[in-house]
Amino acid sequence: MSILNKSILITGSSDGIGKSLAIEFSKLGANIILLGRNSKKLDEVYDLLDHSHASQKHLIIEADLALLSNEAAQEILIAISQEFEVLDGIIHNAAILGTMSSLEDYDLSSWDEVMKVNLRAPFILTKTLKVMLESASLPRLIFTSSGVANKGRSFWGAYSVSKFGIKGLAEIFKDELETTTNIKVFNFDPGKTRTNMRASAYPAEDPNTLKSPKELIDCYLWFFDKESSNSSQSYFEFSELSNQLNST
Ligand code: NDP
Repeated sequence: MSILNKSILITGSSDGIGKSLAIEFSKLGANIILLGRNSKKLDEVYDLLDHSHASQKHLIIEADLALLSNEAAQEILIAISQEFEVLDGIIHNAAILGTMSSLEDYDLSSWDEVMKVNLRAPFILTKTLKVMLESASLPRLIFTSSGVANKGRSFWGAYSVSKFGIKGLAEIFKDELETTTNIKVFNFDPGKTRTNMRASAYPAEDPNTLKSPKELIDCYLWFFDKESSNSSQSYFEFSELSNQLNST
């Protein structure tokens, strides 16, 4: 499974799963486009990326996805196209948890922020960057799902609703793009993973009982592999996909 020389945008790569993916993918020779809102954290991740492969380079894009406009997305397109000829993939990983409260008590500004970061930003970024994906040989669009994307659960409010929305967004992009372009669309639920978001949602949980973000790497590598081009399935959960990969 080679991602050597592939240029991959990972949103929310300043921490958690996105940070780990960026580091591991860079070790395998990928060019990483880090996107986050905190320049200090992005610089720290940049310094952890592997630069040892021939012509390997990385790019930092500082952007607050809660504030993303069409114009800001165009600027991101320009910044990426100045550095890379093609874009091989986007991993729409950034998200916020928002407030854990009943819908009745849900704060409107928190609701709006969650929807902007988790759902509106992947929509704007995808439609703006699609043009660069189209010129790649095996382009991939990977959305990030969650256990609360398929069945509503009390107190998960806007986060859960945004992940239901991502399911729809991924399915519609799949239907529209896979018939007209070579872009392959996946929606992946990474499952319980040891990150700050998980700790905020489950403060009483022992983080040592959870898998580390690094353990997700084989699943993400498979999405970028030629083999996944033949998959008619687009929605995957971690346990299912990792069992599948381990048995082959
Ligand atoms: P983290 O909170 O650890 O990381 C989230 C990342 O998104 C951070 O880099 C964060 O930046 C970034 N981000 C948040 N808001 C913005 C914004 N406005 N603009 C730009 N970047 C932003 O979360 P995880 O790594 O746990 O989650 C990654 C993905 O996996 C999410 O989509 C989540 O829903 C999903 N997921 C996670 C599970 C888990 O158990 N961890 C389970 C199921 C799904 P900053 O560093 O500035 O905060």
